[in-house]
Amino acid sequence: MAILDEPIKEVLKLKNYMNGEWVESESDQILDVVNPATGKTLAKVPMSTKEEVDAAVAAAKEAFPEWRRTTPLARVRYLFRLKELLEEHFEALSRIQTMEHGKTIDESRGETRRGIENVEVATGIPSLMMGYNLEDIAAGIDEYVIYQPLGVFCCIPPFNFPFMVPLWFAPYALATGNTYIVKPSPRDPISQVKLTELVDEAGFPPGVFNVVHGGADVASLLLEHPDIKGVTFVGTTEVGKDVICKKCSETGKRYIAQTSAKNFLLVMPDAEVERTIPALMTSFFGNTGQRCLSGANLVVVGKDDSFYRTFIDAVIEATSKIRVGYGLDESIQVGPMQSVDGKERALKYIQRGIEEGAKLRLDGRELSIVGDYPDTYFLNPTIFEGVTPDMTIAREEIFGPVMSIIRADDFDEAIEMIHDNPYGNAASIFTSSGKLAREFQYRVECGNIGINIGIVAPMAFFPFSGMKDSFFGVLHGQGRDAVRFFTESKVIIQRWL
Ligand code: NAD
Repeated sequence: MAILDEPIKEVLKLKNYMNGEWVESESDQILDVVNPATGKTLAKVPMSTKEEVDAAVAAAKEAFPEWRRTTPLARVRYLFRLKELLEEHFEALSRIQTMEHGKTIDESRGETRRGIENVEVATGIPSLMMGYNLEDIAAGIDEYVIYQPLGVFCCIPPFNFPFMVPLWFAPYALATGNTYIVKPSPRDPISQVKLTELVDEAGFPPGVFNVVHGGADVASLLLEHPDIKGVTFVGTTEVGKDVICKKCSETGKRYIAQTSAKNFLLVMPDAEVERTIPALMTSFFGNTGQRCLSGANLVVVGKDDSFYRTFIDAVIEATSKIRVGYGLDESIQVGPMQSVDGKERALKYIQRGIEEGAKLRLDGRELSIVGDYPDTYFLNPTIFEGVTPDMTIAREEIFGPVMSIIRADDFDEAIEMIHDNPYGNAASIFTSSGKLAREFQYRVECGNIGINIGIVAPMAFFPFSGMKDSFFGVLHGQGRDAVRFFTESKVIIQRWL
């Protein structure tokens, strides 16, 4: 049954959170946060001033010395309290994501769950943060390594997972004894505000966790701030490579920059079709194609025309049945695009595909929406056939519900296609052959590999990897990588004899 209960009833005036208090911004630059399904304004978000950014950093810096002196177990107890509150508010948090982002309620529930799992993993910090030692490295001399927090970290997340992405980092930053500032995406900042209300309720000491709203200007102030030790960025390669890497190198900050993608999914002639098609639907069209792990290019391998035709017709038929509408309706499978800009961008790529000679088999511009909603942000699933790897739609990230179907004569040709693409975030293979699957995992230059799985989102205790133009830095978000990123090793050699 369709349930459309909306937890945001009136337009919210979003505030910054610093030093344990909600503070109204003095900025006169205020943006609207809009529900892309209904077109209704949900909130007003300020583009904070330099003074406000400085105040947030000062609060985090001041809180650091005492926070780092708390025991790991004491810090973890705050995380346990936070986890309980997140569970209590699970449904409301998920509904807010659907309202401000547009994704379906089930996708939002998945996002909330994955965010909570990172909190759970970080509660293992007393073990995860342990160093190591060796006695008698020379007569009577012992050597050991300890891991220590560094100070203030900031997070600059993207719009597509407004709740979860900051949680790839925050629980580890806090558990290891650092203090933290998040600058949510101005396109959907409400989820972070709601999370912060729960952080506040969990009783974290003032200044340990802070929120400062804004866009690129506020991010630049954080990047240039001398008191920030490290930056976790998730977003486009354009910003990650040209801004984050450059500024962090100039100012001596460590960074993680997880960036754009163009993911290939290979279907071998021996794939189990009944299980492959549903996996392709969620991979290509889930989150309206706005995932860094979304399928983009479907490569059907082999010269067998009859397998190809039957398979592709089944894909097109399944796609044409997808129900598009407001994600709070439980029956909906694909929501709207998050922004008008995002939709315009996808429309430009569809036009480009047509101009470059790809065959439009399913035209998502012909809208079919369940329910009575404005069509401003909606775009139905779209399929191109006859795509070649050199076409713009096969090379660049569209970030919309567009599938490009490419044929490859054999496995090696398909692998070449993946390697020729600048990105290296994720790739999947659907096959019954263990030998080919092993070869795929061994050779493909991508950080996340799927074998008979479409969306290869690593669990919280594994790193969220990426290669080539999809990742800049050394360590990744989540799990042990995050613990290592938020700590510095110190070697001690001692002699008492
Ligand atoms: P974006 O690069 O436009 O913005 C990301 C963040 O950077 C936002 O907080 C934004 O305010 C800030 N920002 C924008 N311009 C900036 C600038 N010039 N200087 C400093 N900060 C700036 O990305 P987006 O459109 O919000 O997110 C979508 C992108 O994120 C896609 O490319 C997607 O593939 C990528 N993504 C990657 C991963 C991953 O793990 N690899 C995960 C999710 C999303």
